[in-house]
Amino acid sequence: MSKQTLTIALSKGRIFEETLPLLAAAGIVPAEDPEKSRKLIIHTNHENIRLVIVRATDVPTYVQYGAADFGIAGKDVLIEHGGDGLYQPLDLKIAKCRMMVAVRKGFDYESVSQPGSRLRIATKYPNIAAEHFAAKGVHVDIIKLYGSMELAPLVGLSDAIVDLVSTGNTLKANHLEAVEHIVDISSRLVVNKAALKTKHTLIEPIIQAFAGVVNGGQ
Ligand code: AMP
Repeated sequence: MSKQTLTIALSKGRIFEETLPLLAAAGIVPAEDPEKSRKLIIHTNHENIRLVIVRATDVPTYVQYGAADFGIAGKDVLIEHGGDGLYQPLDLKIAKCRMMVAVRKGFDYESVSQPGSRLRIATKYPNIAAEHFAAKGVHVDIIKLYGSMELAPLVGLSDAIVDLVSTGNTLKANHLEAVEHIVDISSRLVVNKAALKTKHTLIEPIIQAFAGVVNGGQ
């Protein structure tokens, strides 16, 4: 019988950096640094384990369709995706941040966000934003953006933004302030439901190794 292979979907940047110690705990070492290489398939010290480097928002899709057996994705991305076909066994507690509503400094958000009022919201997260404002009874026109959300209230594209905030430096640099907390975000392990069964002996020790690191921390 040929050896089973394992494909792990990761995105570059923050999540990749914070995933390296988890992979190391499972004895997996990438052969190359995706920040320095243009390769989208990165081999590891195990000939049957490889990494695929995809956009953060695409990780759940690769795993859902089984093109990757498991991956690591932010809760923000998972809420937007919906989680179909994915098993989410572990909060890795990495890439932590908060999903917030932010406005121009001095903008009277309190009085314009009462039930029944109408707001224009720019965001990369239309589902999260729609759900948040629906729960408050506020009508929203959602403007989907793909980046630089902070600009939208400054040039009159929107009243507010819904975005991730980590240190708050980006908001501060753009004279914006966070006015409402929506949800705490961290990255999760996502596993293809079928792969969890068919490749259980390969995947389970990796989940255990990741859990050991996560639970070993504070
Ligand atoms: P900060 O200036 O540290 O508050 O970071 C805010 C910027 O980084 C915003 O553009 C966010 O969209 C992005 N950001 C912050 N935390 C994360 C995260 N965990 N994952 C992805 N993007 C993030």
